[in-house]
Amino acid sequence: MKRKALYPGSFDPVTNGHLDIIVRALEIFDSIVIGVGVNIGKTPLFSVEERVAMIRESTAELENVEVVSYSGLTAKYAEQIGAVALIRGLRAVSDFEYEFQMTLANRQLFPRGETVFLMPSIGNVYLNSSMVRDIASLGGDIDQFVPKPVADRLREKFAGQ
Ligand code: ADP
Repeated sequence: MKRKALYPGSFDPVTNGHLDIIVRALEIFDSIVIGVGVNIGKTPLFSVEERVAMIRESTAELENVEVVSYSGLTAKYAEQIGAVALIRGLRAVSDFEYEFQMTLANRQLFPRGETVFLMPSIGNVYLNSSMVRDIASLGGDIDQFVPKPVADRLREKFAGQ
């Protein structure tokens, strides 16, 4: 049986940290669906379409990866697409509390789906999308943190500011 996992997130924008997790997850699962969640509570920098496009461009060379957007409950969506697991990244203790809560809630909603936590390489541990957005907005160099298609779009977004 082919084992598919859903990697859900905001990806606003996708960073080298996310890609690190995607590559690791592909070692375990046959295919990964990267799901950009439409979260009404958050005002993103990039639209869902832009986020999906950036992930597609950044993962173009990887096989068995699909990029989609979804709305509603992550657990329900995972079940609907036949995923056997959710993938999440764990960076530091600070991620733990939130991830712990989410995992237990998702287990209630999708009892057959496990959440699998993967840790990035040490060089990507401190990376997060909001830091990248902040640096880019202040004109800092973000090439080392994000794939090229993302760096280009961030520069475009903040050009002339
Ligand atoms: P969310 O709003 O769902 O947390 P994010 O795009 O911020 O969306 O993160 C999606 C997932 O990727 C989360 O599990 C997060 O912990 C993980 N992640 C984000 N950045 C990194 C990183 N640098 N290393 C490892 N995992 C990461």
